[in-house]
Amino acid sequence: MPPTDPTPPEPTLDPTTPAEWQALRQLAHRMVDDMFEHLATLRDQPAWQPIPQDVRRALSEPLPASGVGAEAAYEQFLTNILPYTNGNRHPRFWGWVQGQGTPLGMLADMLASGINANLAGFDQAPALVEEQCHAWLAELMGMPRGTSGLFVSSGTMANVQALAVARYAMADGLAGLDVRKDGLRSAPPLLFYGSTQTHGWARRAADLLGLGTDAYRTVGVDRDYRMNLAELAERTAADRAAGAAPFCVIGTAGTVNTGATDDLSALADFCRRESLWFHVDGAFGAFARLSPKLAGQVAGMERADSLACDPHKWMSVNYECGVVLVRDRQIHTAAFTNTAAYLAASARGTVAGGLTFADRGIDLSRGFRALKVWMMMKAGGVEPFARVVEKNVEQAAYLAQLIEASPELELLAPVPLNLVCFRYVRPGLDGDRLNAINREILLRLQESGLAVPSGTVVDGRYAIRVANCNHRSRREDFDMLAEAVVKIGREIMGAPN
Ligand SMILES: *Cc1c(COP(=O)(O)O)cnc(C)c1O
Repeated sequence: MPPTDPTPPEPTLDPTTPAEWQALRQLAHRMVDDMFEHLATLRDQPAWQPIPQDVRRALSEPLPASGVGAEAAYEQFLTNILPYTNGNRHPRFWGWVQGQGTPLGMLADMLASGINANLAGFDQAPALVEEQCHAWLAELMGMPRGTSGLFVSSGTMANVQALAVARYAMADGLAGLDVRKDGLRSAPPLLFYGSTQTHGWARRAADLLGLGTDAYRTVGVDRDYRMNLAELAERTAADRAAGAAPFCVIGTAGTVNTGATDDLSALADFCRRESLWFHVDGAFGAFARLSPKLAGQVAGMERADSLACDPHKWMSVNYECGVVLVRDRQIHTAAFTNTAAYLAASARGTVAGGLTFADRGIDLSRGFRALKVWMMMKAGGVEPFARVVEKNVEQAAYLAQLIEASPELELLAPVPLNLVCFRYVRPGLDGDRLNAINREILLRLQESGLAVPSGTVVDGRYAIRVANCNHRSRREDFDMLAEAVVKIGREIMGAPN
């Protein structure tokens, strides 16, 4: 027989020969080793550093017509990407409200990516894992058995989708309206209420859900930054008298500015009395419930009709991971379910049970976010999360003490939880000058690489804001922070250090 040319392999994105598989496997081991080394030595690295010009250039290349190979691409990751992230994995990162992730979470993400399951639903073990995690989180939050859940990308998405459920359920309840079909054309103005401290997602939700940002009413707060309940009652009554239809109140467990928590029990009572949907934004604060010492602060949260929280914050589940919990399972699904021939369920086979999760939210195709939550909870149980929450709250109190003990530092808000707002002060400086100085201190602190708090404005005063949900922080890190702020403040003032 004449020799024939071997058939060329058909194109694939996998390695093709055993040697290629082996080379990629070796690279994979190196990646894991490098990342573990990196994570184990975070303290020796800057919390953040500015991106050099050559790195910016290297990351704005033309479309690669041909490739450099996995190894070279990985080298670029090491030099151009890894050192220049926002820094939230560092032990002295306290900006905004961000988690650090964990090595186990990273590995779970790798496994989830390896099996690459699509969690639109389907009759598959990953779907059972997701349901299991919803149930665990609902139990931790005190919500009843049978509570419906969905993992989403973020707290913003969780809150917005919860408000979509509220809008759907309440338009029906208040005006007999199918808002999914009829929209808001024939609806009375549907209004919802938060406090001046409610997170910015609420405005976005008002906009996206077609309610309009005027439909979002912000109620004032008391000296502890908790919603003024008398004002809430007056506003809803006045709005009703004017022909509008209040439908929902947002309570916050842990506000983003100061860590205040609204009186959630009173809000739950109010919502029941007034037939309003009670939504709780517990993005990070909901996790206070894990600690018996702190659970009292968020009491009443478990009475929510819907609750949003962010395992990627105070559980340090690797990004991204938000979750929305809805008390009434039927309503959750009714607010989102979608029928299309190509999505129809069957009694048996892969799609038995249907696309459960796609029917509870906006996404159709979804990744296996639940695996990292499941693996982190299975591996260590609930205890370690509770201990970190407690530790962070103790550290915040410790920092508050350092601030109160220093004549050059001023605490700008009470510290009920894990957020500390403070500033550098010197006698004889007016408000504008203090605001400018503290802005500058914050930027110099970030650029120094020592620590990354963020900034906010509390009652017109610019504050350096430490949001501590950092499982890697130690007490000494807060000593370093307080000393650095004073030192930089003196430098700016030209005062001796
Ligand atoms: C962080 C936060 C959000 C938004 O969550 P993301 O995951 O960043 O979208 C909403 N509400 C509060 C109280 C938050 O702290």
